Amino acid sequence: MFSAAFDYRAPTSLAETLSLLAERGDDAKVLAGGQSLIPLLKLRFTRPELVIDIGRVPGMNAIKRQDGHLVVGALARHVDVERSKDVLPIMVETAHWIADPLVRNRGTLVGSVCHADPAGDWGSVLLALDAELVAASSKGERTLKADGFFTGPLTTALRPDEVVTEVRIPVPKHAAGGAYLKLERKVTDFATVAVAVHIELDGDKIARAGIGLTAVGPHNIRASEAERSLHGKEPTDAAIAEAARLSAEASEPKDDIRGSAAYKKDVVRVFVQRGLKTAVSRAKGEAR
Ligand SMILES: Cc1cc2nc3c(=O)[nH]c(=O)nc-3n(C[C@H](O)[C@H](O)[C@H](O)COP(=O)(O)OP(=O)(O)OC[C@H]3O[C@@H](n4cnc5c(N)ncnc54)[C@H](O)[C@@H]3O)c2cc1C
Repeated sequence: MFSAAFDYRAPTSLAETLSLLAERGDDAKVLAGGQSLIPLLKLRFTRPELVIDIGRVPGMNAIKRQDGHLVVGALARHVDVERSKDVLPIMVETAHWIADPLVRNRGTLVGSVCHADPAGDWGSVLLALDAELVAASSKGERTLKADGFFTGPLTTALRPDEVVTEVRIPVPKHAAGGAYLKLERKVTDFATVAVAVHIELDGDKIARAGIGLTAVGPHNIRASEAERSLHGKEPTDAAIAEAARLSAEASEPKDDIRGSAAYKKDVVRVFVQRGLKTAVSRAKGEAR
């Protein structure tokens, strides 16, 4: 099917993008890599009057370390993350799980997060890493925590006149390790269930734990209670098992062709348990 007709603009500066959004944001869609938007346009699930292609806006594809943060620009593609030496290892691991090289060569991390598919992989990683998103509009800039950014399926806290310019991830202060575990029916598929876990160790104790859940609710879910249960504790089998149980409790999966809700909850439990053990080993430098 062909998309419905729309106006197309390709601004060459952020200022021009923001002025287009200020004028016509209610009827417009931003286009980054097009790997989610173009299928939606072709299926006519969305019918914007204007598509604003930000691909020619300079300076938005960087991945860099700045002021204690890892900054990922809005045009950094999955493949850029996969090949970057600056990102955290969990991000390389996650990028590798996304679709196939064709999609990874065009799709962006920020586009994925703004698309807010509950089965999107990056949302859970940003939740586990306590990331924030910088949203710009003609009125100025604001910073949104990843926790609270996802408000429902394909819905976020972004306003129609805003564009996300970058994601900021705090660089861990302590020895850190992470893992992304994904169950998919076949290579390139979206997750049946996936989990992102991040651990920071201060000596023998857990200084910070981050846990994000994919495809088990209306949006990516942060398992906050499970995270809190680990804080200040040694990563014993019992503490990890309890955090895994609390993570499963935080998930809200539904029965579908990929599996029953009960099955998916148990996959969350098992994956969080496995992921935390791997993350701890990585933080201690015992595993890669
Ligand atoms: C075959 C296939 C398999 C896939 N498999 C996976 C998978 O396994 N895991 C996974 O996570 N994803 C998967 N995806 C989705 C893929 O990751 C997309 O690249 C990603 O979801 C969207 O990124 P994009 O740059 O292509 O965004 P686009 O498609 O250009 O935009 C997506 C949405 O985000 C908005 N948007 C984009 N950038 C911005 C911005 N800077 N500010 C504000 N709004 C913005 C757009 O308006 C649109 O609503 C798959 C896609 C395909 C086609």
